[in-house]
Amino acid sequence: MRLWDISHLHRRAFLIYIGTIVAPLCGLLWLGFQSFERQRQALATLTAEKFASALETRIGSAAKAAFAQPHHPIASHSFTIEHGAVIRPALHAPPPDQAPAEFLKAEREELDLNRPDQALESYRRLFAIHGRKGLALSRIARCLAKLGRIEEARAAWRKLAATYPDDRDLSHRPNGIVAALQAGDTAGLYDRIASGRWELAADQAEYFLTQLDAKRTTPYLDHFRFARELEERFRPQNQLREGEIYSGVLGRHRIFYRSEGAARLSGFAVNDDWISGTLQPQLRKEMGIADTTRQDLWVYGGAIGLVLVILSFGVILLLRDISREAAANRVRADLVSSVSHELKTPITLIRLYGETLLRRGELSPLQRGECSRIIVRESERLSRLIDQILTFSRIERGARVYSFERGDLAPVVAGIVEDYREYLEHAGFRLERALEASAPAVRFDPAALSQAVANLLDNAVKYSGESRDIAVRLVAGNGSVTFEVQDHGVGIGAAEQAKIFERFYRAASGGAKGGYGLGLFLVRHIMEAHGGSAEVESEPGRGSRFRLVFPVAT
Ligand code: ADP
Repeated sequence: MRLWDISHLHRRAFLIYIGTIVAPLCGLLWLGFQSFERQRQALATLTAEKFASALETRIGSAAKAAFAQPHHPIASHSFTIEHGAVIRPALHAPPPDQAPAEFLKAEREELDLNRPDQALESYRRLFAIHGRKGLALSRIARCLAKLGRIEEARAAWRKLAATYPDDRDLSHRPNGIVAALQAGDTAGLYDRIASGRWELAADQAEYFLTQLDAKRTTPYLDHFRFARELEERFRPQNQLREGEIYSGVLGRHRIFYRSEGAARLSGFAVNDDWISGTLQPQLRKEMGIADTTRQDLWVYGGAIGLVLVILSFGVILLLRDISREAAANRVRADLVSSVSHELKTPITLIRLYGETLLRRGELSPLQRGECSRIIVRESERLSRLIDQILTFSRIERGARVYSFERGDLAPVVAGIVEDYREYLEHAGFRLERALEASAPAVRFDPAALSQAVANLLDNAVKYSGESRDIAVRLVAGNGSVTFEVQDHGVGIGAAEQAKIFERFYRAASGGAKGGYGLGLFLVRHIMEAHGGSAEVESEPGRGSRFRLVFPVAT
């Protein structure tokens, strides 16, 4: 059944199906989807609003906690402002201190008298007795350098960096940094500074880091930038009440602050990463809000897909039914045309020879005999054809009934073959018989058996071509009894051997030999009802062997 036939014959049914079922359903689906989507969006907006307000509350209480607890994750840059100036993080180092009085003599020797050798001795004494050992050691190193004792100077700087790293010089610079720079031991120093190892003022930090690597940048400097922004642009609300927490926005930072009395204010910038990375997911989980977009999409997609699958399934079923119906129609048409054609020949012959017998009184006894034989033969053929059609229609209706009996089929087969022999020999065939006189008992329906055997013999005659030899055999063995008909006629191609048992199938090799392709279909049906099988072995041009295999009754 080609698609063209389907669309040609049943385009209307198909269009009606599409127009009345598929199209309206797709429209409904679309409308449903639209309203579902609107609802989903409304719900999403509502949820988002609820979430935003809950988040605000959470941020508020986290901010409160951050004022009580120093390293709260919500605070990224903490600050203190006094009298409008940012004092933490410090932007500028305090002005340099004076050297202690005990150092004045040594300083004079070093700087005014230009006697580093004497100064060295004085500083060494101070190192031994004075509390500011770091300061003394740095002066010792300086004098050694002035005296050209470079290695000793470097050793002194190293000792200073190792022993008094947190001690500061008169300009408030940590010895840990200054001495390491002097000694040239800068490996890892940048990272130590950038990790906040020393508390530095913004200008100090920037100076040291630029010295160490002018090209590198570090987030460590962000809080100084933030401090500068604070100093330049931050204006707290008027009339702050002490202890109360206020919030505001500064550039891209959100800040919280509170007054600590006497023109002092402290606060911090909110750590956005913590809010988005920790607080929001946690809150979402607590509120049971999942990211449903993807899930919803799967549900919509799945539902639509399912409907489409069902619709396609409907289309397939419809097409299949249509093609089945068309095939059945064709079968019926074929049957009617071939049956009427097949019936015509015997009826014409019967009538012709019947009329001859009636009208022509002067026929010789031989001629009379011939006429009667033809009439009998053709009426037998006619009744076989009608039998076939009746059986076929019973099978199609599921009303074919068999009446089985248990027994030896050898004498029955011999009888059927014997009945046929005369007809065959008259048609010029030589029949070779190899039939065992008895066989193990099988379950069989004698009428059906007779029909199957007759069909095979009929076919052997029809498809023998020039050959005139037909052989029949009945053998028992291997738990079965097999009847075989062999001819040496046209044969059947391998591809067609399985198809010849289908209804109305007529092999191309057979030629137009009368019949309507039902004989072997009936044979197979009969054999299946017997629990046995119908088999063929054939070679085009060499002939065929058809076998009926009956299982031995247990
Ligand atoms: P039909 O009425 O056409 O003989 P059958 O069902 O008996 O119908 O056979 C189906 C087809 O099988 C035949 O049309 C023929 O082509 C092929 N066929 C059947 N028996 C033989 C045979 N003995 N030799 C060659 N071809 C055969």
